[in-house]
Parts: sequence; C-alpha cells; structure tokens
Amino acid sequence: MAQVSNRLAALSPSETLAMSQKSNELKAQGVDVINLSVGEPDFNTPDFIKEAAKKAINENFSFYSPVPGYLSLRNAIVNKLKRENGLDYKPDQIVCSNGAKQSVCNLLLTVVNPGDEVIVPAPYWVSYVEMVKLAGGINVIISAGIEQNFKITPQQLDAAITPKTKAIILCSPSNPTGSVYSRQELKDLADVLAQYPDITIISDEIYEHINYIGKHESIAQFSNVREQVAIVNGVSKAYAMTGWRIGWIAAPQWIASACNKLQGQYTSGPSSIAQKAAEAAYNALQECVTVMRQAFERRRDLMVKLGSEISGFKVNQPQGAFYLFPDCSECIGKSFQGRKIVNSTDLAMYLLEEAHVAVVGGLAFGAPNCIRFSYATSDDILVEAMRRVKEAIGKLQ
Ligand code: PMP
Ligand code: GLU
Repeated sequence: MAQVSNRLAALSPSETLAMSQKSNELKAQGVDVINLSVGEPDFNTPDFIKEAAKKAINENFSFYSPVPGYLSLRNAIVNKLKRENGLDYKPDQIVCSNGAKQSVCNLLLTVVNPGDEVIVPAPYWVSYVEMVKLAGGINVIISAGIEQNFKITPQQLDAAITPKTKAIILCSPSNPTGSVYSRQELKDLADVLAQYPDITIISDEIYEHINYIGKHESIAQFSNVREQVAIVNGVSKAYAMTGWRIGWIAAPQWIASACNKLQGQYTSGPSSIAQKAAEAAYNALQECVTVMRQAFERRRDLMVKLGSEISGFKVNQPQGAFYLFPDCSECIGKSFQGRKIVNSTDLAMYLLEEAHVAVVGGLAFGAPNCIRFSYATSDDILVEAMRRVKEAIGKLQ
C-alpha cells in the first residue's frame, strides 16, 4: 500500500493547533469549553488595516506579487526596522512569506543540510523542532527551567556548540514562556556566537511588540554577529492579523536570496491583498499596538496573581508575549478518582475534561513539567478559567 514519505512520517502534528481543534470540537458538542490553548490575539484587526485591504481589492492588487513581496511592503519593513530597531537593511534583504511560520521554515531549509545540528533552547515553540526535522537537521536542546526564568546562559550555549552546529533558534519575547532576554543577556549570547561565524542565528521576534519591560532588543544590533543573524517577524501578533498570513525575514543578502529562490519554486509571494494590509499596518501611527499591549499586560498581571494562588503551580513573572507557563511538577504523579496524571500532556487532558479549560501540555514545548496558558482573551473569561483550573487541581490527591 502507498504510504507517506519518511519525512512526513517523522513529523509530529502541531500540538497547539491540535488542542485548539479538540476544544472547538467539544464546544460544537455543546460543552462550555474555555480555550486557552492557541496563541492568538483575541482582538479584531484594526479598521484602518481592513480598509487598506478593501482598497487593494478595488485597485486590482489581484496579480502575482514579486516573490519576496511588493517593494512597497519591503520598504515599509525597512523603515520599521530603522525606526523601531535602529537597524539598517536594504529591501533586497527582506523576504515576505505566508506567516512567520513559513519564514522560520524557509530559513532552516536554506541553511541546514541533513545531519547538521540546530540548537534549540527549551522551552521552545512547538514547530521549531519539527521544522528542523523536516530540513533533515538534528535538534540539540538546551534546557532552561523556571529557576532560571526559562532563559539559557552563555555557558550552556557554549557547551552545546559542536563543529556540526549550523544554526540556533532564539525567540524573545518567548512562546511558550513569555521570557524576554535583556540587552546584556543577548550581548552575552552574541559574544559566544561571534566566535562561530558559520552559525546562523535565527531570531524569532514575532512577539516584539508584546513586551512589558520596555524597548525591544534584537540580537541583530550587535555588530560582531550582525552577518549571522536572520530576523523573523510579521504582523500576526502585533496587529492581530493571524489569519492574514504575512511574516518576513530580514537577513544577510545570501540568505534572503536563497529564501527567495526557495519561495519561487514553492509558494511564490504571499497574498497580494494581505501584503497591502500589512504595508498599511507598518506605515501607520502605532497606537493600536500600544492599546493591545496594555490590555495584554493587565491580563498578565491577572494571570500571575491567579496562577500563584493555585497550590501545586510554580509561577514566574513573564515579561512579554501572552503566555503563562507554570511548572506543575507537584501535580504530576497525583490522581483523581483512580486516574493518575503521568505527565503534563495528561494534566492538560485532565483540565480539558474536568475543568473544561483547554491548555497545552509542556511536553510539546520541551518542558514536560509545565503547561501553557494563552491569556489572549478577556479578563472575565480568564477569571472563570482559573477558578475552574484551581478547583480541578484541588481535587488531585
Ligand atoms: N513564531 C512563534 C514563536 C509563534 O508563536 C508563532 C505563532 N504561531 C509564529 C512564529 C508564527 O506566526 P505566524 O502566524 O506569522 O505564522
Ligand atoms: N503561535 C500560536 C501558538 O503557539 C499559534 C498556533 C501555531 O501556529 O502553532 O499557539
């Protein structure tokens, strides 16, 4: 019988999307599920962005765009990088894709040969390790627990590098932990990586604007690694545009040209209409970003408070993104009505069935003792969700 390729057989389905789907299925059956599994802003896309898309349709932006995206969008991104990050890029160094997800995958396919090692600090976003596998690479995981605020140290990084290391994937602010590396912490990592100019630094900055400690810091600002860094970013999180599917890279010329070639054979440029919407987002005054960030910060404070009140959860103070990532080691091994919680995936399933709250088990993020709550939803819903979770956790013995 015909079978899927080995490449696909080795790939795990996305746990974040799977959990969200499970919660939607239960909802469709009439169960009152609160879905805190998927990471996407609950806000609608701002009106001025929607208007730009309507205008683009009326003005017949309906033909293939250039493969890396319209020059006008790439110029808007170049201006954004200068204005917000103090970084100089040329439009040729920007490649727009169908979301930051594709941008990360493009980069891995561009630099990784089969057998090459890619360093992935854990907890990591679920898709990184699967994309590395897709590229034929070998994941080298560095683990950072809650006691180090889920951030790796330069010593850990140095110890993980081998002659086979081809790339590292950094994510700050982080999904799933909400941790943010300070400028000094990034500089210390850059100083290690600068000694290995053949290592490409994939810097996923998709949560740039959801940062509660002030200015966003990019590792690309350090001149000793500048030629190694490929920034990944996009409009999904900052402008509540997850469904529009626009992400991009800003990278050294050779990487951008390679991604352009790859995309030219694989997907072509992303949606013309969505590109015009993204262009409007970058060219506008950034008030909408501030309003959404403030709402997320208030919810972060609420979640930290409510999470800390649950006995069995160890909670830290996330500094960005919209996730709370409690360490639930104390809950693992406990039981309810003869059902034993053996790991965090099991704990997530228990919370779905018993509390009707969907979260994602930490195993998929390389942190088997944690679970992830996405708090990109209203305060009332968060209060009710955490009440239910507290009750269900309280029943474990
Ligand atoms: N990187 C991280 C860390 C993310 O959380 C996400 C959200 N799924 C992405 C990349 C991909 O974002 P996009 O919706 O732009 O593909
Ligand atoms: N980034 C989101 C999450 O982690 C979206 C889902 C996905 O693309 O995996 O939940």
